[in-house]
Amino acid sequence: MSIFRANRYFERFEDVTPEILKKEKVKLLLCDLDNTLRLHSEKEPADELQDWVEECKKAGVKIVIISNNGRKKMMQKFCEPIKVDCVWWAKKPMRKKLIEAIEKYNTNPKETVMLGDKWSTDVLAAKSAKIRAWKVNHRRSIV
Ligand SMILES: [Mg+2]
Repeated sequence: MSIFRANRYFERFEDVTPEILKKEKVKLLLCDLDNTLRLHSEKEPADELQDWVEECKKAGVKIVIISNNGRKKMMQKFCEPIKVDCVWWAKKPMRKKLIEAIEKYNTNPKETVMLGDKWSTDVLAAKSAKIRAWKVNHRRSIV
């Protein structure tokens, strides 16, 4: 598998369903934030994100946001209502924060996926950490 290619492609994060996560044996889903789970301009988690996080949790999947965004307070404020842990200033494509998350949540690389919109950061970080990379399209507002 080329390092330039994601293992799976989705249009939007909502398309990553609990059924798919179960079938793919995913226990830990590392998610990019900007343009993956939200538009860059969104200050609060959208209803569809809250619902999706709930569904994933019910399916036994741990979600952790791993972002290159360095605005710690903004990230904490955004993640608090949806009760997901977050890592800011992650410096993807460096794999360090991904590996740390796999260790922290006591899982293994085979059960872990990185979901993101950019190959130069998210996909490469996943490949470097030897986990699967799932790519979504750069998020757009639905009018
Ligand atoms: Mg992004």
